[in-house]
Amino acid sequence: MKRSIPVGRIFGISIRIHPSWVVIFGLVVWALASSYFPINYPRWPLSLSIGVSIATSLLFFVSVLLHELSHSLVARHYNIPVSSITLFILGGVAEITEEPREPKAEFLIAIAGPLSSMFIGLIFAALWLFLPLRAEIVIAVSFWLAWINLMLGIFNLVPGFPMDGGRVLRSLIWWKTGDLDRSTRIASSIGQGIGLLFIIGGVSLIFYGMLLNGLWISLIGWFIRSAAASSYRQLTLRQLMKGHKAKDVMTDDCRLIDPGLNIEQLVNDYILTSGRRCFAVGEDGRVEGVVTLQEIKNLPRDEWKETKIRQIMAPLETLQSIGPEDELEHAFKLLASKNINQLPVIEEGRLLGMLARDNLLNFISLKEGLSLE
Ligand SMILES: [Zn+2]
Repeated sequence: MKRSIPVGRIFGISIRIHPSWVVIFGLVVWALASSYFPINYPRWPLSLSIGVSIATSLLFFVSVLLHELSHSLVARHYNIPVSSITLFILGGVAEITEEPREPKAEFLIAIAGPLSSMFIGLIFAALWLFLPLRAEIVIAVSFWLAWINLMLGIFNLVPGFPMDGGRVLRSLIWWKTGDLDRSTRIASSIGQGIGLLFIIGGVSLIFYGMLLNGLWISLIGWFIRSAAASSYRQLTLRQLMKGHKAKDVMTDDCRLIDPGLNIEQLVNDYILTSGRRCFAVGEDGRVEGVVTLQEIKNLPRDEWKETKIRQIMAPLETLQSIGPEDELEHAFKLLASKNINQLPVIEEGRLLGMLARDNLLNFISLKEGLSLE
């Protein structure tokens, strides 16, 4: 998630906070301090209510973090990398970058979160039940945290993909049918339906005067709906790319450009006149690096003459590259996850071509337009 701020690391996973989290943290503190604690503990002075509310809200978000951490640790057990966990306005999200390879892994990764929330809920319930009455503050906090964590666990089991319950559902259909695409299609359709129900429910609550709860539920509905739609879109893309390799789509009219040329020569003699899009730099068939329009744009015009291509190119060692036989989907993921525009296609140190974002998008829209499957 963009603009989130790293606050630490747990088990090597970066923990981040998105600015929108401050809103939900503030709302929880406000709801607790303005009504929940004053109604249940009218003898508490206001300052005590506020202090306890802040502590309770912090503990709640630690619980959310533990929920996400449970998903992440099970994912890691199945060798699926987890880059970060981010707290944001709708709760928490673990950045699990790959899809599980088997239904069992998906089931366990998905169920770990709700189970951990329920487990945390039970621990607080035990505190609430067994502590002596003298510890009134701890009992008050424990009761609320027990209730909210149990609710969180149950809520996440709603079978709207990509919520946890939707993932559990998808893994079960996948396990039964052996067909990941079909189970994704079913689970994301149900997800879109459930998202819509949340939006309708939320809007009705607003009409009944429950503005905050209504807005909150609509927002979650909208989030589920768009996430379900985008996972469906990803599935379609995956099907379009299936069976195609990098060499099918790459541009192969690459001429190696001498790294000793200056930028003015590069622009005048290669970029403007050739119309080529592939600017690989190297000598004797060996690629040393790649130069893109971005690097040229970053260089002031009056330095073009005395700057050699070698000085501004991105060296090959620092670049992501792919092999000609690599699946197109792999290239697509690299382009998207590293946010780059082109990938050199390399075989035994030789440049065979370039695979640019444009090539891929053209290929996809062409196939879609012809409805080839
Ligand atoms: Zn979860």
